[in-house]
Amino acid sequence: MTERTGVEIRLASRPVGWPTSENFEVAEVTVGEPAAGQVLVRNLVMSVDPYMRGRMNEGRSYVAPFEVGAPLDGGAVGQVVSSASDELQAGDIVLHDRGWRDYVVLDANRPKKVDPDRAPLNAYLYVLGMPGMTAYVGLSEIAQQQPGDVVFISGAAGAVGSLAGQLAKLSGASRVIGSAGSAEKVRFLTEEVGFDAAFNYKDGPVRDQLKEAAPDGIDVYFDNVGGEHLEAAIGAMHDFGRIACCGMISQYNAAEPEPGPRNMFMMVSKRLRMRGFIVGDHSELTEPFARDVGGWLSEGKIHYEETVVEGLRNAPEAFLNMMRGQNTGKMLVKIDDPA
Ligand code: NAP
Repeated sequence: MTERTGVEIRLASRPVGWPTSENFEVAEVTVGEPAAGQVLVRNLVMSVDPYMRGRMNEGRSYVAPFEVGAPLDGGAVGQVVSSASDELQAGDIVLHDRGWRDYVVLDANRPKKVDPDRAPLNAYLYVLGMPGMTAYVGLSEIAQQQPGDVVFISGAAGAVGSLAGQLAKLSGASRVIGSAGSAEKVRFLTEEVGFDAAFNYKDGPVRDQLKEAAPDGIDVYFDNVGGEHLEAAIGAMHDFGRIACCGMISQYNAAEPEPGPRNMFMMVSKRLRMRGFIVGDHSELTEPFARDVGGWLSEGKIHYEETVVEGLRNAPEAFLNMMRGQNTGKMLVKIDDPA
């Protein structure tokens, strides 16, 4: 049998502050054959996500840190090349958690088989995958969004945010407001995605721009950003408002911890509820998510935008560009045919 050479991206060193391409290493490796009960998968598309920045740090969090010198991992969709298991056949398309490489040998019970005729492959890393589920869980379970609510979403032009805005509308929000980091993203939100209002948080204080976009206040805040956005949202909340803490990307590259919102007493005076969540804890919502979001997607009610970078070797740049805000919708890496 001819030996196959694969490529994997490793963590070369732990970033301090903003990561750079120096923190990554591209390595060529020999690809093994699947043993009994295993499959060999060729990855076709992989995801780069903000949580990966946290895994580049040392120390305990809700997922284990990446190891220096070892390949990174994360969501990917691939095709089974050869199988030594009855569970999967060559040609099957699978979703799994070993991205950042072109080939991977997996225990056959580890990946999830997906139907390429149901949706494009990218959808399993986006609308029908982890980011879609995050938007769904955050709004329905964590923020307990009700029809008529005014909903504010930060990081609104990204994968989770752009879906959260649409799910909020489809669930009966009376007004959905988004913030994002460029004029083009603001246009995208209001003209293509269906947000009622949007603003560029780099144009001026979030508090002032939010006041203009939601003069009567908000009921729900879906927080992807933290920091100044969170303080402004607490200030704009109606009594009994709900905040879903999904992410705080404004702080992921901070070398030192940032001070928190200065208006926390409003949590008391307005009787607010703020709750953080990790999507992986909510598998009980997998079926309602597939029913609701899968249904809306097949009815053509969900607009999804992708920023696709070509080539596995460009995955570090795709990750860095996503952290810098150069994606609209979901940032994905298409893995070229290694043959
Ligand atoms: P994304 O929004 O597609 O991409 C990240 C975006 O963050 C960038 O495009 C950039 O857009 C924005 N950003 C970067 N630095 C910023 C800053 N200082 N202030 C404001 N915005 C900034 O990523 P995603 O995958 O959808 O994730 C969005 C958030 O959800 C992240 O916080 C992530 O950690 C969180 N998340 C949480 C869970 C969970 O289980 N809790 C699951 C998935 C994702 P701009 O151009 O607008 O700045």
